[in-house]
Amino acid sequence: MEYKKNDLVTVQIEDIGHDGEGIGKVEGYTLFVKDAVIGDCVLAKITKAKKNYGYARVEKVVTPSPFRVEPKCAFHRQCGGCQIQAMSYERQLAFKQDKVRNNLIRIGKFEEDFVDSVMEPIVGMDEPWHYRNKAQFPVGYDKNGKLITGFYAGRTHDIIANTDCALGVTENKRILEAVLAYMQENNVKAYDEKTGKGLLRHILIRTGFASGEIMVCLVINGKKLSAEEKLIEKLKGLVFERSCKAPVGTVGGLAESEMTEKKIVSISISINTEQTNVIMGKEIRTLWGSDYIEDSIRILETEDKVTFRISPLSFYQVNPRQTEKLYSLALSYAELTGEETVWDLYCGIGTISLFLAKKAKQVYGVEIIPQAIEDAKENARINGITNAEFYVGKAEEVLPEKYEKEGIYADVIVVDPPRKGCDEKCLETMLAMQPKKIVYVSCDSATLARDLRILVDGGYELKKVRAVDQFGQTVHVECAVLLQRRGAAPAH
Ligand code: SAH
Repeated sequence: MEYKKNDLVTVQIEDIGHDGEGIGKVEGYTLFVKDAVIGDCVLAKITKAKKNYGYARVEKVVTPSPFRVEPKCAFHRQCGGCQIQAMSYERQLAFKQDKVRNNLIRIGKFEEDFVDSVMEPIVGMDEPWHYRNKAQFPVGYDKNGKLITGFYAGRTHDIIANTDCALGVTENKRILEAVLAYMQENNVKAYDEKTGKGLLRHILIRTGFASGEIMVCLVINGKKLSAEEKLIEKLKGLVFERSCKAPVGTVGGLAESEMTEKKIVSISISINTEQTNVIMGKEIRTLWGSDYIEDSIRILETEDKVTFRISPLSFYQVNPRQTEKLYSLALSYAELTGEETVWDLYCGIGTISLFLAKKAKQVYGVEIIPQAIEDAKENARINGITNAEFYVGKAEEVLPEKYEKEGIYADVIVVDPPRKGCDEKCLETMLAMQPKKIVYVSCDSATLARDLRILVDGGYELKKVRAVDQFGQTVHVECAVLLQRRGAAPAH
């Protein structure tokens, strides 16, 4: 049977694709159906037909899957930020666990039974909503010329008016409304990407979950915000309720953040006069309050805390609660006693490094972005951590150079690379250094599986793999992995 664009077909969804789409077959023809949930029977409209497979979207759900739930957000199909919001959270977790497992088998070429013996159950979120501490909202006009803010519709720059994203903190809504009201009352125009005219481009809001501190930063196409005192007045006037969302007794207990009073402590502008897709401009000017917010992350085992200073341009993990779980897990895999020398590659602002430093003799961090290293050093300082040193550079250059010239040593190497995984030269040097343990934190299980194969073939034993859900409602999943050296200790 030949299919073509706009054909309507009834299809039973039997699998989930990498991007969260439903997969089903009609007479041997495979369809990837956007917004269909595994277990659904749907009437699908074909959007693109190839010879043996095609893409489609749900026209109508004929028989809903037992895993289908009512999406929280009315815009989830248009927005594209949450690919699997219509799937129950439990089924989302099972999907992520499978995704990691399948990649280890298919790409890593590990035996199924072996994978099942090393994989621990995925760590889910206690509350898979309102978990993001950062959001950037574009500002613009709708078709009727009404001033709006919200999110870009998937793969476009059309703004969907939505101030109440279910992944962000609930306080965002009132802040955004206050900014829109300020704009209207003071005739401040939204920026227009096409003409390059207008002032306000984006509204960045970041919230410290443990501290309750909120930062509002307006990205503007100009040097100055008109009537800025009116904005400050409006934002300062906002009083937020003490929220207490998670039911007492959930795993990990009630997060501190949920008992904390939230308040705006920093209002700033970011100057971005370029015609570009890059959101933030490099120059930041504080209009009121502090230049940064603080937040802290706990090491769950010890309740020890590490505090971070976050300015509008700083990198910081967007789901701090799951970060606590992920990094605490990585730390427990490292099994530090206080005697170890640890290298933390791709260290960012040093989140893991500073965790490690609390339990190791000495930590060295390597990161490519100079500003992140500045932040890492500053964070070490405010936490009184003196046994962490940081280097700017590529992991695949800094590590080999230090190893070849200085013969550096590591008991444990931790890596947390971006999606593309570790560079080959970096893996090669790690193998040559022969640390007792390698802890691999990954945000992409496909490149993780590829790299694990290299490390295992190079003399390491894969001991533990555990997925941690950092991004509920989306298809992304993070992992922590423990590898142990097979042979005896190297001579140093
Ligand atoms: N653990 C860090 C985040 C790691 S994200 C934290 O919590 O802060 C991956 C980091 O790798 C990013 O900060 C990115 O800038 C950095 N990076 C990317 N390529 C790199 C390379 N070749 N060498 C070193 N760092 C790199």
